[in-house]
Amino acid sequence: MPKFILAIDQGTTSSRSIIYDDTASVVETAQKEFRQIYPQLGWVEHDPELIWKSQLETVHSVIASSGISVLDIAAVGITNQRETTVVWNRKTGKPIYNAIVWQDRRTAKYCDELTQKGYQDLIQNKTGLVIDAYFSATKIKWVLDNVKGARQQAENGELAFGTIDTWLIWKLTNGKTHITDVSNASRTMLYNIRTLKWDEELLDLFEIPKSILPEVVDSSGNLAMTDKSVLGVEIAISGIAGDQQAALFGQLCVKPGMAKSTYGTGCFLMLNTGNTIVKSNHKLLSTIGWKIGDEVSYALEGSVFIGGAVIQWLRDEMEFFVEASDSEALAEASSDNGGVYFVPALTGLGAPHWDANARGSIFGITRGTTKAHLTRAALESICFQVNDLLKCMDQDTELPISTLRVDGGAAGNHLLLQFQSDISGIKVHRPVTLESTSLGVTFLAGLGIGLWDMDFITNHWQMDEEFNPVQEKEVVAHLLSQWDEAVKRTIGWHE
Ligand code: ADP
Repeated sequence: MPKFILAIDQGTTSSRSIIYDDTASVVETAQKEFRQIYPQLGWVEHDPELIWKSQLETVHSVIASSGISVLDIAAVGITNQRETTVVWNRKTGKPIYNAIVWQDRRTAKYCDELTQKGYQDLIQNKTGLVIDAYFSATKIKWVLDNVKGARQQAENGELAFGTIDTWLIWKLTNGKTHITDVSNASRTMLYNIRTLKWDEELLDLFEIPKSILPEVVDSSGNLAMTDKSVLGVEIAISGIAGDQQAALFGQLCVKPGMAKSTYGTGCFLMLNTGNTIVKSNHKLLSTIGWKIGDEVSYALEGSVFIGGAVIQWLRDEMEFFVEASDSEALAEASSDNGGVYFVPALTGLGAPHWDANARGSIFGITRGTTKAHLTRAALESICFQVNDLLKCMDQDTELPISTLRVDGGAAGNHLLLQFQSDISGIKVHRPVTLESTSLGVTFLAGLGIGLWDMDFITNHWQMDEEFNPVQEKEVVAHLLSQWDEAVKRTIGWHE
């Protein structure tokens, strides 16, 4: 009886494959970075064939290094960078243009025009999203409008569109299966998260022929079969989810009110809102977490542009320390921030301020200010930003968040997690396994073939450390009001 699960984790800068055993423990990992393509300022592309090649290499190498046979793999789960758009020819299987990556801003002006024409409400009501170049719809339109002959081919039914999950599944099934799961579909700005259908009105608006779209399937179940020609055997693909949704599932935030924060380059906060679609008044995103059987779980999502990246900046540009993790000891050299507040609006500010003209600023510097103060202020800034999102979620929903589950590289920092707990007045829980993304899709895949049930999965989550608020109320109030003031003075700087 095969008992391993292969998790495919296709990220923005690297492709990873991880083998999990039947206790949902990691057996082996393989990773390969691939080329980023920047054809113009603000444009970001990937070569879809290179994505596939790097992914397949990690699959072969992780199987080889874990010492298992491909016959021992019971199921495959796929998690991926979201929104990135590939369009290919159905007959030849060849992409007609590079993948346009979620970060790519080439359609930003068109998105502004849509907002000015008053489409925001319609699009938010149907898709849960704010109009933005991140999402796939305007990227697909760009390809159809700009690649010679593409629109005609699309209208003839000769082209296929997919996010990265769809592209990998097309490859894994040797062109037999053209599907995406609900979580990935919900990031296209074409999928109606209420009716769970591709939205005809939006397809008309973006001039996208329905024939290019994949079929939308659940996040868990018997979703597809790999083709024998690819891995030598047929294996069930039984879990699919976009990376942040997979992380929410991997953190077992499976009940309404449960939330996770990922502290990576940026920070991603996600709250499970159960079967309720929350309409945010703070431009947070409503999205589909997953669909298992008949049950859809929705989520509210907010992101911080510069999270751990501010520590990277202190490390690489200011040369304050050698390793990001050294930031903790340096910050601890001072018992507080010495009145220093660092607003890391290096690329503008997201929710709840939404100001593209804000720029990074440091307030409160005196003759006594040290590297320790600046480093502490930088770490604190990550938490202040996450706290701002928590406040938005609190106002947008009836679901008070009492506990925050955390992961990502910067979640290794105690000082940061304690500060988050203090200023947000919530418990912060760090699990033993910080591999939330691949674990999440492994759970979905294991559930999908009946290897595990929800009881097994829920019991799998194990706490490594709990952080409780200990700071005095007056101190917290002072910190928060100083932060708010610093943000206020940062807004609009670039204008
Ligand atoms: P991503 O997946 O976005 O590439 P990771 O989850 O690997 O990011 O986290 C890396 C980020 O976290 C980097 O920006 C780094 O500066 C920051 N980081 C890593 N370890 C620490 C730490 N101990 N303290 C503070 N920041 C850290």
